[in-house]
Amino acid sequence: MKKPRSKPRPWHIAKAQSRPAPMENRKRIEFYHTTRWKKESRLFRMENPVCKRCETKGLVVPSEVTDHRIPLELCEDPWDHNNWDALCKKCNNSKAAADKKLIKQHKQNGKDKF
Ligand SMILES: [Zn+2]
Repeated sequence: MKKPRSKPRPWHIAKAQSRPAPMENRKRIEFYHTTRWKKESRLFRMENPVCKRCETKGLVVPSEVTDHRIPLELCEDPWDHNNWDALCKKCNNSKAAADKKLIKQHKQNGKDKF
């Protein structure tokens, strides 16, 4: 006896089409608002109190944010500490601009992962 085919579920499509923001933006915002992220990134900065980028220039600047070396949108595992850097806000801002370009490039190449 054949199993009955599952009926099409048009409401799934409707839901996907009516999402409020591009998926990756929404996921990013959701991620950075999770309690786990807030807690783990704070601990990470306690272990890495100095901005990594400034440190390579011989400057000692307190770290203020935890950054994903491979951007959140492109990395395999956002919880991998090896992909994290403690940065000051200034370095994070310039990194974010570079990330944007990188993400755009990847989209143009049809890739969404590294
Ligand atoms: Zn810095």
